[in-house]
Amino acid sequence: MAKEELECSFCGRKKPETNLLIAGLDAHICDRCIEQAHGIVIEESKQTDSSDLSAELKLRKPQQIKDFLDEYIIGQDMTKKVMSVAVYNHYKRLLQPLSNDDIDIQKSNIIMVGQTGTGKTLMAKTVARMLNVPLAIVDATVLTEAGYVGEDVESILTRLLQAADYNLEKAEKGIVFIDEIDKIARKSDNPSITRDVSGEGVQQALLKLLEGTVVNVPPKGGRKHPDQKFIEVNTENILFIAGGAFDGIDRVISKRLNMQAVGYSASMSDDVVDQDHLLQYIIPKDLKDFGLIPEIIGRLPVLTYMDPLDAKTLRAILTEPKNAIIKQYKKLFAMDDIEFTITDGALDFIVGKAIEYKLGARGLRSLCEEILTDAMFELPSSDEKKLNVTKMYAEGKLTKTTIKKLKAVS
Ligand code: ADP
Repeated sequence: MAKEELECSFCGRKKPETNLLIAGLDAHICDRCIEQAHGIVIEESKQTDSSDLSAELKLRKPQQIKDFLDEYIIGQDMTKKVMSVAVYNHYKRLLQPLSNDDIDIQKSNIIMVGQTGTGKTLMAKTVARMLNVPLAIVDATVLTEAGYVGEDVESILTRLLQAADYNLEKAEKGIVFIDEIDKIARKSDNPSITRDVSGEGVQQALLKLLEGTVVNVPPKGGRKHPDQKFIEVNTENILFIAGGAFDGIDRVISKRLNMQAVGYSASMSDDVVDQDHLLQYIIPKDLKDFGLIPEIIGRLPVLTYMDPLDAKTLRAILTEPKNAIIKQYKKLFAMDDIEFTITDGALDFIVGKAIEYKLGARGLRSLCEEILTDAMFELPSSDEKKLNVTKMYAEGKLTKTTIKKLKAVS
Protein backbone atom coordinates (compact mmCIF):
# COMPACT_ATOMS: atom_id res chain seq x y z
CA MET A 1 0.00 0.00 0.00
CA ALA A 2 1.39 3.41 -0.89
CA LYS A 3 2.15 5.60 2.10
CA GLU A 4 -0.44 8.29 1.32
CA GLU A 5 -3.19 5.69 1.23
CA LEU A 6 -2.76 4.72 4.85
CA GLU A 7 -5.95 5.01 6.86
CA CYS A 8 -7.30 4.40 10.33
CA SER A 9 -8.55 0.83 10.53
CA PHE A 10 -11.25 1.92 13.01
CA CYS A 11 -12.86 5.02 11.47
CA GLY A 12 -11.46 4.90 7.96
CA ARG A 13 -10.00 8.44 8.04
CA LYS A 14 -7.12 8.87 5.64
CA LYS A 15 -3.74 9.71 7.10
CA PRO A 16 -3.82 13.40 6.02
CA GLU A 17 -7.14 13.83 7.89
CA THR A 18 -5.58 12.72 11.17
CA ASN A 19 -3.08 14.33 13.50
CA LEU A 20 -1.43 11.04 14.21
CA LEU A 21 -1.74 7.56 12.82
CA ILE A 22 -0.15 4.78 14.80
CA ALA A 23 0.73 1.51 13.13
CA GLY A 24 0.08 -1.87 14.67
CA LEU A 25 0.79 -5.32 13.24
CA ASP A 26 -1.87 -5.31 10.53
CA ALA A 27 -3.78 -2.18 11.37
CA HIS A 28 -3.58 1.53 12.10
CA ILE A 29 -5.32 3.75 14.61
CA CYS A 30 -5.76 7.53 14.54
CA ASP A 31 -5.55 9.99 17.41
CA ARG A 32 -9.32 10.49 17.56
CA CYS A 33 -10.01 6.79 17.83
CA ILE A 34 -7.36 6.49 20.54
CA GLU A 35 -9.09 9.21 22.54
CA GLN A 36 -12.46 7.61 22.08
CA ALA A 37 -11.14 4.22 23.07
CA HIS A 38 -9.47 5.78 26.10
CA GLY A 39 -12.82 7.25 27.14
CA ILE A 40 -14.42 3.82 26.87
CA VAL A 41 -11.69 2.27 28.99
CA ILE A 42 -12.23 4.90 31.71
CA GLU A 43 -16.01 4.41 31.64
CA GLU A 44 -15.61 0.66 31.85
CA SER A 45 -13.20 0.86 34.75
CA LYS A 46 -15.62 3.15 36.60
CA GLN A 47 -18.29 0.51 36.25
CA THR A 48 -16.06 -2.28 37.42
CA ASP A 49 -14.98 -0.05 40.31
CA SER A 50 -18.47 0.05 41.71
CA SER A 51 -19.01 -3.64 41.30
CA ASP A 52 -15.60 -4.19 42.90
CA LEU A 53 -17.12 -3.28 46.19
CA SER A 54 -19.68 -6.03 46.04
CA ALA A 55 -17.13 -8.56 44.82
CA GLU A 56 -14.78 -7.63 47.61
CA LEU A 57 -17.46 -7.64 50.24
CA LYS A 58 -18.80 -10.97 49.23
CA LEU A 59 -15.35 -12.34 49.84
CA ARG A 60 -14.83 -10.84 53.27
CA LYS A 61 -16.76 -12.12 56.25
CA PRO A 62 -16.47 -10.38 59.64
CA GLN A 63 -13.64 -12.71 60.67
CA GLN A 64 -11.69 -11.74 57.56
CA ILE A 65 -12.37 -8.06 58.14
CA LYS A 66 -10.90 -8.48 61.62
CA ASP A 67 -7.91 -10.38 60.21
CA PHE A 68 -7.26 -7.42 57.93
CA LEU A 69 -7.52 -4.96 60.82
CA ASP A 70 -5.11 -7.16 62.81
CA GLU A 71 -2.45 -6.59 60.19
CA TYR A 72 -2.40 -2.85 60.80
CA ILE A 73 -3.72 -2.30 64.31
CA ILE A 74 -2.37 -3.73 67.55
CA GLY A 75 -4.81 -4.87 70.24
CA GLN A 76 -8.24 -3.22 70.50
CA ASP A 77 -9.84 -6.61 69.93
CA MET A 78 -13.26 -5.62 71.17
CA THR A 79 -13.50 -2.65 68.83
CA LYS A 80 -12.13 -4.66 65.92
CA LYS A 81 -14.80 -7.28 66.43
CA VAL A 82 -17.63 -4.78 66.81
CA MET A 83 -16.33 -2.81 63.86
CA SER A 84 -16.05 -5.90 61.64
CA VAL A 85 -19.66 -6.83 62.27
CA ALA A 86 -20.91 -3.26 61.84
CA VAL A 87 -19.03 -2.76 58.59
CA TYR A 88 -20.13 -6.14 57.30
CA ASN A 89 -23.77 -5.43 58.10
CA HIS A 90 -23.60 -1.93 56.71
CA TYR A 91 -22.34 -3.09 53.36
CA LYS A 92 -24.64 -6.10 53.35
CA ARG A 93 -27.42 -3.58 53.68
CA LEU A 94 -26.02 -1.74 50.66
CA LEU A 95 -25.93 -4.85 48.57
CA GLN A 96 -29.35 -6.18 49.51
CA PRO A 97 -31.69 -6.45 46.57
CA LEU A 98 -34.84 -4.35 46.80
CA SER A 99 -37.41 -6.38 48.64
CA ASN A 100 -40.99 -5.83 49.66
CA ASP A 101 -40.96 -7.56 53.00
CA ASP A 102 -40.96 -4.22 54.87
CA ILE A 103 -37.81 -5.13 56.73
CA ASP A 104 -35.54 -2.17 56.47
CA ILE A 105 -32.03 -2.81 57.65
CA GLN A 106 -30.91 0.32 59.47
CA LYS A 107 -27.53 1.93 59.30
CA SER A 108 -24.80 0.77 61.64
CA ASN A 109 -23.04 4.07 62.27
CA ILE A 110 -20.40 3.64 64.91
CA ILE A 111 -19.12 5.62 67.89
CA MET A 112 -15.71 4.88 69.44
CA VAL A 113 -14.80 6.17 72.86
CA GLY A 114 -11.16 6.22 73.91
CA GLN A 115 -8.21 8.42 74.77
CA THR A 116 -6.49 10.29 71.99
CA GLY A 117 -3.76 8.33 70.21
CA THR A 118 -5.29 4.91 70.82
CA GLY A 119 -5.97 4.24 67.15
CA LYS A 120 -9.49 5.52 66.46
CA THR A 121 -8.51 7.34 63.28
CA LEU A 122 -6.30 4.44 62.28
CA MET A 123 -9.28 2.11 62.65
CA ALA A 124 -11.41 4.24 60.30
CA LYS A 125 -8.53 4.61 57.83
CA THR A 126 -7.88 0.88 57.78
CA VAL A 127 -11.52 0.01 57.18
CA ALA A 128 -11.70 2.51 54.31
CA ARG A 129 -8.51 1.09 52.84
CA MET A 130 -9.82 -2.44 53.04
CA LEU A 131 -13.10 -1.56 51.36
CA ASN A 132 -11.37 0.73 48.92
CA VAL A 133 -13.89 3.49 49.56
CA PRO A 134 -13.18 7.21 50.02
CA LEU A 135 -12.70 8.49 53.56
CA ALA A 136 -13.21 12.00 54.91
CA ILE A 137 -11.76 12.82 58.31
CA VAL A 138 -13.33 15.82 59.98
CA ASP A 139 -12.91 17.46 63.32
CA ALA A 140 -16.21 18.14 65.05
CA THR A 141 -14.71 21.15 66.80
CA VAL A 142 -14.60 23.20 63.59
CA LEU A 143 -18.24 22.57 62.78
CA THR A 144 -20.85 25.16 63.56
CA GLU A 145 -24.47 25.73 62.82
CA ALA A 146 -25.16 27.32 59.45
CA GLY A 147 -24.71 31.04 59.67
CA TYR A 148 -21.99 31.03 62.30
CA VAL A 149 -18.26 31.44 61.83
CA GLY A 150 -16.69 28.06 61.14
CA GLU A 151 -17.55 25.24 58.79
CA ASP A 152 -21.10 24.22 58.02
CA VAL A 153 -21.92 20.61 58.62
CA GLU A 154 -22.29 20.18 54.84
CA SER A 155 -18.55 20.78 54.49
CA ILE A 156 -18.11 17.20 55.71
CA LEU A 157 -19.62 16.04 52.43
CA THR A 158 -17.48 18.43 50.43
CA ARG A 159 -14.46 16.68 51.92
CA LEU A 160 -15.89 13.28 51.07
CA LEU A 161 -16.51 14.36 47.49
CA GLN A 162 -12.93 15.59 47.27
CA ALA A 163 -11.65 12.28 48.68
CA ALA A 164 -13.70 10.52 45.99
CA ASP A 165 -12.28 12.69 43.21
CA TYR A 166 -15.81 14.07 42.74
CA ASN A 167 -17.15 10.64 41.80
CA LEU A 168 -20.59 11.00 43.36
CA GLU A 169 -21.38 7.31 43.29
CA LYS A 170 -18.20 6.50 45.18
CA ALA A 171 -18.69 9.32 47.67
CA GLU A 172 -22.18 8.08 48.46
CA LYS A 173 -20.70 4.75 49.59
CA GLY A 174 -17.81 6.30 51.47
CA ILE A 175 -16.90 6.63 55.11
CA VAL A 176 -16.88 9.78 57.22
CA PHE A 177 -14.83 9.82 60.39
CA ILE A 178 -15.93 12.56 62.78
CA ASP A 179 -13.22 13.09 65.35
CA GLU A 180 -13.68 14.80 68.72
CA ILE A 181 -17.43 14.27 68.75
CA ASP A 182 -17.26 14.73 72.53
CA LYS A 183 -16.33 18.38 72.05
CA ILE A 184 -19.81 19.19 70.77
CA ALA A 185 -21.48 17.79 73.86
CA ARG A 186 -24.07 20.08 75.38
CA LYS A 187 -22.53 22.26 78.03
CA SER A 188 -25.72 22.79 79.96
CA ASP A 189 -23.97 23.46 83.23
CA ASN A 190 -22.19 26.48 81.81
CA PRO A 191 -24.47 29.46 82.49
CA SER A 192 -22.32 31.91 80.52
CA ILE A 193 -23.33 30.32 77.24
CA THR A 194 -26.57 31.89 76.14
CA ARG A 195 -26.51 30.42 72.66
CA ASP A 196 -24.76 27.07 72.52
CA VAL A 197 -23.26 27.61 69.07
CA SER A 198 -20.76 24.82 69.13
CA GLY A 199 -22.75 22.29 71.07
CA GLU A 200 -26.32 21.21 70.70
CA GLY A 201 -26.92 23.17 67.52
CA VAL A 202 -24.18 21.26 65.73
CA GLN A 203 -25.49 18.00 67.06
CA GLN A 204 -28.88 18.89 65.61
CA ALA A 205 -27.30 19.76 62.27
CA LEU A 206 -25.43 16.46 62.23
CA LEU A 207 -28.56 14.44 62.89
CA LYS A 208 -29.93 14.63 59.38
CA LEU A 209 -26.62 13.71 57.84
CA LEU A 210 -26.26 10.66 60.04
CA GLU A 211 -29.73 9.46 59.36
CA GLY A 212 -29.69 9.66 55.62
CA THR A 213 -30.88 12.56 53.56
CA VAL A 214 -30.14 14.40 50.36
CA VAL A 215 -27.92 17.39 50.99
CA ASN A 216 -26.99 20.19 48.62
CA VAL A 217 -23.26 20.30 48.84
CA PRO A 218 -21.06 23.11 47.55
CA PRO A 219 -18.33 21.15 45.75
CA LYS A 220 -15.58 23.53 46.78
CA GLY A 221 -16.95 24.10 50.26
CA GLY A 222 -17.28 27.34 52.18
CA ARG A 223 -19.01 30.52 51.18
CA LYS A 224 -16.13 31.90 49.18
CA HIS A 225 -17.48 30.51 45.94
CA PRO A 226 -21.04 31.81 45.76
CA ASP A 227 -21.43 30.93 42.07
CA GLN A 228 -20.65 27.27 42.34
CA LYS A 229 -23.35 24.78 41.48
CA PHE A 230 -24.48 22.47 44.26
CA ILE A 231 -24.07 18.73 44.07
CA GLU A 232 -26.85 16.63 45.58
CA VAL A 233 -25.34 14.03 47.88
CA ASN A 234 -27.45 11.28 49.39
CA THR A 235 -26.05 10.29 52.77
CA GLU A 236 -28.20 7.19 53.16
CA ASN A 237 -25.37 4.77 52.42
CA ILE A 238 -22.48 6.71 53.88
CA LEU A 239 -21.00 5.04 56.93
CA PHE A 240 -20.38 7.48 59.76
CA ILE A 241 -17.82 6.65 62.40
CA ALA A 242 -17.51 9.04 65.31
CA GLY A 243 -14.70 9.13 67.81
CA GLY A 244 -13.93 11.02 70.97
CA ALA A 245 -11.89 10.92 74.15
CA PHE A 246 -14.86 11.85 76.38
CA ASP A 247 -12.53 12.98 79.16
CA GLY A 248 -14.13 12.32 82.50
CA ILE A 249 -16.68 9.81 81.26
CA ASP A 250 -15.11 7.20 83.54
CA ARG A 251 -16.56 9.16 86.45
CA VAL A 252 -20.00 8.96 84.85
CA ILE A 253 -19.58 5.22 84.37
CA SER A 254 -18.25 4.72 87.87
CA LYS A 255 -21.14 6.67 89.38
CA ARG A 256 -23.66 4.57 87.47
CA LEU A 257 -21.98 1.33 88.46
CA ASN A 258 -21.91 2.37 92.10
CA MET A 259 -25.56 3.28 92.03
CA GLN A 260 -26.37 -0.09 90.55
CA ALA A 261 -24.26 -1.72 93.18
CA VAL A 262 -26.35 -0.11 95.91
CA GLY A 263 -29.60 -1.19 94.32
CA TYR A 264 -28.53 -4.72 93.63
CA SER A 265 -25.89 -5.08 96.27
CA ALA A 266 -26.19 -8.82 96.54
CA SER A 267 -25.81 -9.67 92.87
CA MET A 268 -23.33 -6.91 91.99
CA SER A 269 -20.90 -7.74 94.74
CA ASP A 270 -20.09 -10.95 92.88
CA ASP A 271 -19.01 -9.00 89.80
CA VAL A 272 -15.67 -7.39 90.34
CA VAL A 273 -15.52 -4.06 88.57
CA ASP A 274 -12.18 -3.39 86.90
CA GLN A 275 -11.74 0.19 88.13
CA ASP A 276 -8.75 0.82 85.88
CA HIS A 277 -10.64 -0.01 82.70
CA LEU A 278 -14.03 1.49 83.26
CA LEU A 279 -14.60 2.26 79.58
CA GLN A 280 -15.42 -1.39 78.92
CA TYR A 281 -18.68 -0.90 80.85
CA ILE A 282 -19.82 2.06 78.76
CA ILE A 283 -23.47 2.17 77.67
CA PRO A 284 -25.34 4.75 75.57
CA LYS A 285 -26.82 6.38 78.67
CA ASP A 286 -23.32 7.44 79.75
CA LEU A 287 -22.96 9.39 76.50
CA LYS A 288 -26.24 11.10 77.23
CA ASP A 289 -25.11 12.02 80.73
CA PHE A 290 -21.94 13.40 79.17
CA GLY A 291 -23.95 15.75 76.97
CA LEU A 292 -24.75 14.08 73.66
CA ILE A 293 -28.39 14.44 72.73
CA PRO A 294 -30.37 11.18 72.66
CA GLU A 295 -31.15 11.55 68.94
CA ILE A 296 -27.45 11.59 68.05
CA ILE A 297 -26.80 8.58 70.24
CA GLY A 298 -29.69 6.81 68.53
CA ARG A 299 -28.10 7.39 65.15
CA LEU A 300 -24.75 6.04 66.26
CA PRO A 301 -26.12 2.70 67.41
CA VAL A 302 -22.83 0.81 67.54
CA LEU A 303 -20.95 1.90 70.66
CA THR A 304 -17.46 0.67 71.35
CA TYR A 305 -14.36 1.65 73.34
CA MET A 306 -10.59 1.76 72.87
CA ASP A 307 -8.18 0.41 75.48
CA PRO A 308 -5.42 2.72 76.66
CA LEU A 309 -2.03 1.72 75.25
CA ASP A 310 0.31 0.00 77.71
CA ALA A 311 4.06 -0.61 77.27
CA LYS A 312 3.54 -3.99 75.63
CA THR A 313 1.18 -2.49 73.05
CA LEU A 314 3.44 0.47 72.33
CA ARG A 315 6.35 -1.90 71.84
CA ALA A 316 4.31 -3.96 69.39
CA ILE A 317 3.18 -0.82 67.53
CA LEU A 318 6.84 -0.01 66.85
CA THR A 319 7.59 -3.28 65.11
CA GLU A 320 4.56 -5.42 64.29
CA PRO A 321 1.96 -3.73 62.08
CA LYS A 322 2.33 -4.18 58.34
CA ASN A 323 3.66 -0.65 58.02
CA ALA A 324 5.22 -0.42 61.46
CA ILE A 325 7.47 2.57 62.12
CA ILE A 326 10.65 0.46 62.39
CA LYS A 327 9.82 -1.35 59.13
CA GLN A 328 9.49 2.03 57.44
CA TYR A 329 12.94 3.15 58.62
CA LYS A 330 14.43 -0.18 57.50
CA LYS A 331 13.00 0.44 54.05
CA LEU A 332 14.21 4.03 53.94
CA PHE A 333 17.76 3.04 54.85
CA ALA A 334 17.69 0.06 52.49
CA MET A 335 17.09 2.46 49.61
CA ASP A 336 20.61 3.74 50.30
CA ASP A 337 21.89 0.17 50.72
CA ILE A 338 22.20 0.71 54.44
CA GLU A 339 21.25 -2.15 56.71
CA PHE A 340 19.35 -0.72 59.68
CA THR A 341 18.96 -2.72 62.89
CA ILE A 342 17.78 -1.76 66.33
CA THR A 343 18.27 -3.67 69.57
CA ASP A 344 15.52 -4.73 71.98
CA GLY A 345 17.11 -2.47 74.55
CA ALA A 346 16.76 0.55 72.29
CA LEU A 347 13.13 -0.31 71.51
CA ASP A 348 12.32 -0.64 75.22
CA PHE A 349 14.08 2.66 75.83
CA ILE A 350 11.91 4.42 73.23
CA VAL A 351 8.73 2.92 74.69
CA GLY A 352 9.88 3.92 78.18
CA LYS A 353 10.34 7.54 77.10
CA ALA A 354 6.96 7.60 75.34
CA ILE A 355 5.33 6.47 78.59
CA GLU A 356 7.44 8.62 80.90
CA TYR A 357 6.57 11.77 79.00
CA LYS A 358 3.03 10.68 78.14
CA LEU A 359 3.69 11.00 74.42
CA GLY A 360 1.45 8.08 73.46
CA ALA A 361 1.69 6.20 70.18
CA ARG A 362 2.13 9.42 68.20
CA GLY A 363 5.24 10.13 70.25
CA LEU A 364 6.88 6.90 69.11
CA ARG A 365 7.36 8.28 65.64
CA SER A 366 8.73 11.62 66.86
CA LEU A 367 11.12 9.86 69.22
CA CYS A 368 12.44 7.65 66.40
CA GLU A 369 12.78 10.69 64.17
CA GLU A 370 14.87 12.51 66.80
CA ILE A 371 17.09 9.47 67.33
CA LEU A 372 17.63 8.78 63.64
CA THR A 373 17.85 12.24 62.09
CA ASP A 374 21.64 12.48 62.36
CA ALA A 375 22.09 9.05 60.79
CA MET A 376 19.60 9.80 58.02
CA PHE A 377 21.50 12.99 57.28
CA GLU A 378 25.03 11.60 57.38
CA LEU A 379 24.93 7.99 56.21
CA PRO A 380 23.71 8.40 52.62
CA SER A 381 26.87 10.33 51.75
CA SER A 382 29.28 8.16 53.74
CA ASP A 383 30.69 4.68 53.10
CA GLU A 384 29.02 3.26 56.17
CA LYS A 385 26.56 0.54 55.13
CA LYS A 386 25.33 -0.52 58.56
CA LEU A 387 23.51 1.21 61.37
CA ASN A 388 22.80 -0.61 64.61
CA VAL A 389 20.88 1.48 67.09
CA THR A 390 21.51 0.43 70.67
CA LYS A 391 20.05 1.83 73.87
CA MET A 392 23.24 3.84 74.37
CA TYR A 393 23.05 5.30 70.86
CA ALA A 394 19.39 6.24 71.39
CA GLU A 395 20.14 7.82 74.78
CA GLY A 396 22.92 9.85 73.23
CA LYS A 397 20.59 11.34 70.62
CA LEU A 398 17.79 12.22 73.01
CA THR A 399 18.77 15.24 75.02
CA LYS A 400 16.54 17.00 77.53
CA THR A 401 15.79 19.75 75.01
CA THR A 402 14.58 17.34 72.35
CA ILE A 403 12.27 15.66 74.85
CA LYS A 404 10.93 19.06 75.88
CA LYS A 405 10.30 19.82 72.22
CA LEU A 406 8.45 16.53 71.74
CA LYS A 407 6.32 17.17 74.78
CA ALA A 408 5.34 20.55 73.42
CA VAL A 409 4.12 19.21 70.09
CA SER A 410 2.36 16.11 71.35
P1 ADP B 1 -6.74 8.66 67.73
O1 ADP B 1 -7.55 8.85 66.50
O2 ADP B 1 -7.37 7.68 68.69
O3 ADP B 1 -6.34 9.93 68.41
P2 ADP B 1 -4.74 7.72 65.91
O4 ADP B 1 -5.45 6.65 65.18
O5 ADP B 1 -4.58 9.02 65.21
O6 ADP B 1 -5.38 7.95 67.33
O7 ADP B 1 -3.31 7.16 66.35
C1 ADP B 1 -2.13 7.90 66.28
C2 ADP B 1 -1.01 7.06 65.73
O8 ADP B 1 -0.63 6.10 66.70
C3 ADP B 1 -1.42 6.27 64.50
O9 ADP B 1 -0.97 6.89 63.34
C4 ADP B 1 -0.71 4.95 64.67
O10 ADP B 1 0.54 4.98 64.02
C5 ADP B 1 -0.46 4.82 66.12
N1 ADP B 1 -1.37 3.89 66.79
C6 ADP B 1 -2.25 4.20 67.76
N2 ADP B 1 -2.88 3.12 68.22
C7 ADP B 1 -2.42 2.08 67.50
C8 ADP B 1 -2.70 0.68 67.50
N3 ADP B 1 -3.58 0.15 68.34
N4 ADP B 1 -2.03 -0.08 66.62
C9 ADP B 1 -1.12 0.45 65.77
N5 ADP B 1 -0.81 1.74 65.73
C10 ADP B 1 -1.44 2.57 66.58
